Amino acid sequence: MSRIYNFSPGPATLPEAVLKKASEEMLEWHGTGSSIMEMSHRGKEFLSVAEQAEADLRELLQIPVNYKVLFLQGGATLQFAMVPMNLLRGKTTADYINTGSWSKKAIAEAKRYCEVNVAASGEDTGFNTIPAFDSWKLNKDAAYVHFTPNETIGGVEFHWVPETGDTPLVADMSSTILSRPVDVSKFGLIYAGAQKNIGPAGLTVVIVREDLIGETLSPCPSLFDYKNQAENGSMMNTPPTYTWYLAGLVFDWIKGQGGLDAMAQVNQRKSDKLYAAIDGSDFYKNPVETASRSWMNIPFTLADPELDATFLKLAAEQGLTALKGHRSVGGMRASLYNAMPEAGVDALIKFMQDFEQKHG
Ligand SMILES: *Cc1c(COP(=O)(O)O)cnc(C)c1O
Repeated sequence: MSRIYNFSPGPATLPEAVLKKASEEMLEWHGTGSSIMEMSHRGKEFLSVAEQAEADLRELLQIPVNYKVLFLQGGATLQFAMVPMNLLRGKTTADYINTGSWSKKAIAEAKRYCEVNVAASGEDTGFNTIPAFDSWKLNKDAAYVHFTPNETIGGVEFHWVPETGDTPLVADMSSTILSRPVDVSKFGLIYAGAQKNIGPAGLTVVIVREDLIGETLSPCPSLFDYKNQAENGSMMNTPPTYTWYLAGLVFDWIKGQGGLDAMAQVNQRKSDKLYAAIDGSDFYKNPVETASRSWMNIPFTLADPELDATFLKLAAEQGLTALKGHRSVGGMRASLYNAMPEAGVDALIKFMQDFEQKHG
């Protein structure tokens, strides 16, 4: 068997060691005679898995004790609604930063619940840069400030954390969580769909400061109330047990790699290499301003778009897959999440150079 290098933006590649471990434990978990997915979520076996996953995530991100960690369903997209439902707390307006496709979706959903003030937008510059903080028009009455630290489609990323004072900061970290250390205490709430950097699809991690929860819009489905979920250990109903277990294996794998400092080093090195290869050629181009370039998702175009299909076909023949760019951007996109080995990036760069020589 030979595994390909899968550059998919999500669901994305998982660490091979995690998949091996999961396959070894598939039929029978720890001598129980049963797989994890066949067990009660309330039994001591699964509870031990769930608790260990939370403990490891807390350790990796150094999550302060006054934050709750929730393992939910519905994806980041449901959080676009749950955030205003829970965090407006009697206020009627929230600030949003528009840096691209995912910000826009968050804004559209929030508009169903409150008045949205777009405090800054990268739209004028084609979303190829993060608007400078001194240009933001924050509203002092805002219930919270929402931003998207990494735009998975456009490939722009914040390499800094906005300082919003007493207004809670909310971050959609779906495509950047665990890629580097982050000071959780600067945030009111962090959420992330699992299928980029955490595990398989079907799980959403929410990290929320406990004083912010408990006052929802009314009526609010009880499952959508962070406080209810926190009080019930994210088990008001049956949680996605197998995905939770796999996320736990990924957290353990990251610890084994040396934690988030080590992940950050490798991630920076991987992306630096690919950007250097792109910038060093006249054939490939990345449209994002240097200081706002993503470590995780790197879009690039070929000098001649007529060659796109050939590029993708030949790349796939070499085991380099899922490089097609998002339909709204075109060209290519390489997603270099934690689980993409550096050797995969090296192989991609080599392929790109060979391709340019033959077709450029
Ligand atoms: C993938 C992604 C989403 C959507 O996640 P779902 O889990 O499919 O709802 C939202 N925001 C960002 C930044 C993403 O990368």
